[in-house]
Amino acid sequence: MILGIAAGNEQISTKFSPRGLCAHARYTWECLTNCHAAVQVCSYNALMTTPASAQRAQALFDELLADPGYASGERRFPRRLSRDEAADLAQGLAEQVDRGCQARSEVARKQSLPIVCSVGCNGCCEELVMVYQPEAVAVTRWLMRPENHAARDAFLGAYAAWKAAAGNAAAQMADCTAKGDNAAYMKLHIAQWQKRLMCAFNQGGTCSIYPVRPIACRNAHAVETAAFCNGANDGSRPAQRLEFAPLDDYVNSAKKALRAAHNSLGEPRNRPAALCEAVFNQLRTLLDAAKKRARRAE
Ligand code: SF4
Repeated sequence: MILGIAAGNEQISTKFSPRGLCAHARYTWECLTNCHAAVQVCSYNALMTTPASAQRAQALFDELLADPGYASGERRFPRRLSRDEAADLAQGLAEQVDRGCQARSEVARKQSLPIVCSVGCNGCCEELVMVYQPEAVAVTRWLMRPENHAARDAFLGAYAAWKAAAGNAAAQMADCTAKGDNAAYMKLHIAQWQKRLMCAFNQGGTCSIYPVRPIACRNAHAVETAAFCNGANDGSRPAQRLEFAPLDDYVNSAKKALRAAHNSLGEPRNRPAALCEAVFNQLRTLLDAAKKRARRAE
């Protein structure tokens, strides 16, 4: 493994050899680690001892990635997913990403390149977080639990101001994603970030949906300093990013699985949405339906 600061840019990289994956399952973080580290004993058999829920998530992950057309939207997935299946997938992938992030932190610490993200440091929450529906459904499901009503009420209270300030940036960014125009997407993303609009889930400096936050929020990290993480950055000097090939590859696969799951929910093809907006719309539908049921029962 080689780690060093590449000349001419601010990126710090780790390189594992060989890259490339075996034909076995790739759902678990460890499986990818072993492939990248060229460990001789494959961990595939370990999956057989995982709980049934993890095995279901594993099977769905494999199904969704079996044909690249499901994620690109060129092929229709053979069945429509339930919203619970999609949410379970999102949560399962998030747990794997957390494990990968821990491993990345350990590698960085050993190389004296500490990841400095900590409680209360929330500059990255000024970025507009775009998600596919499975991640939004996972957040909505969590917020609908009675024990999380305070977080739900705080979000609903903050949403109107957030939406007024956000304008239609999310719709424009979704158009870019659906068309595959990454350059235009990044331009809009940076312009939006520089508005310094705090995520409506951020309450008093901390994330109110921390256990179910999307992968984009879990994978964000600052190396050495967080000074470049907020929207005050003019974009000329990006925040330092630690490349960690096993995790980067895993996150790419997870994003493809989430997009395939989004398409198979019958959502607009390849079109993400702002996390806040998607969750607000889902909550409104569920809460309106609950009110109607209560009125009918009276
Ligand atoms: S979901 Fe949480 S971590 Fe992600 S941007 Fe919003 S407040 Fe920050």
